[in-house]
Amino acid sequence: MFRSATFRLTLWYLVIIMIISVIFSVAIYELSTRELRASLHRQAIIYQTLPWYRSGPTGYPVQSLDQQLKTAKNRLQFNLVLLNLAILAGAGGAGYLLARRTLRPIETALDVQSRFTADASHELRTPLTAMRTEIEVALRDAKLPPDQARGLLASNLEEITKLEALSAGLLKLAQHGGNLPLEPCSAEDVAAEAVARLEKALEQRNITIDNKVKDIQVLGDQQSLVDLVAILLDNAIKYSPSKSTIELASGVRGRQGYISVRDHGKGIKASDVPHIFDRFYRADTSRNKEQVSGYGLGLSIAKQIAEAHKGSIEVRSQAGKGSTFALLLPLADSNNQSNKKARKNSA
Ligand code: ADP
Repeated sequence: MFRSATFRLTLWYLVIIMIISVIFSVAIYELSTRELRASLHRQAIIYQTLPWYRSGPTGYPVQSLDQQLKTAKNRLQFNLVLLNLAILAGAGGAGYLLARRTLRPIETALDVQSRFTADASHELRTPLTAMRTEIEVALRDAKLPPDQARGLLASNLEEITKLEALSAGLLKLAQHGGNLPLEPCSAEDVAAEAVARLEKALEQRNITIDNKVKDIQVLGDQQSLVDLVAILLDNAIKYSPSKSTIELASGVRGRQGYISVRDHGKGIKASDVPHIFDRFYRADTSRNKEQVSGYGLGLSIAKQIAEAHKGSIEVRSQAGKGSTFALLLPLADSNNQSNKKARKNSA
């Protein structure tokens, strides 16, 4: 599809360039012949006043005016045709390269989109298949005992909850692609709201939070930043042993402020680290053994939100020891103002 689009775009570039080139050539031809005619006319006046000049500098008789004009016109036409052929060849090659460069980002975006659709439908199909199989087996049994029927419904409900979480994740991925209203917001408030959102999970796992996030003003959309920190915190809870502690901290690094989430959980293998921000990627440790719930969407949503803020997420992790995820964001100007105020007050 993109091959033929590239050729079609090249053809359009060629048509446009050649139309411009031909118009210029005609204009050059017209102007040059007019100029030529005028200069030959001036020569003719000299011939009339100086008859000895007619036999040219070599002694041969000079061509008649019309002949000279015709020869010059022919030479000009020939040169212009040559020039246009050269432009056609050059523009063909350059146009093709330009068309490929123009279409490549669109091709990449479409590839990403179709891979995403394929991955999403694959992930959506897994719980649906589980539900379908269970229902089919139950329907075949004409005398299904009520407790088994209840068990089936409970299992289906569980799959529906998973589907809901997955579709909510997919929706978030779609939502956070656009532009966000960025305004100064407090890192302290963001962290506090994220912790409050995960209070229940913290309680269930008996995990303590050591929150040392200070009132740094970063540039962002408060709700999106809470979503992001909540994803990092949720992972820290999921991949940490119960009764452990998760540390939240903040600071300033150059023109950026950061909020970090440090856990003492299972950590991430070095070979998995480059992939954890990919959609639907789950490290083996999350799929096996304890079967930690998730779809591998959290960190890709987090990365997308960070990028919409012109920020980034850094990871430091050691398998078996724990991980630190740091969200780096541009600092708001209000930091400088409050710093100046603080310096003034202390002076
Ligand atoms: P999910 O947690 O739903 O699997 P994520 O996109 O949030 O998806 O994370 C991708 C993978 O990165 C996880 O499957 C897990 O293997 C790894 N990971 C993320 N955060 C942590 C963490 N704090 N500790 C250990 N592994 C983590």
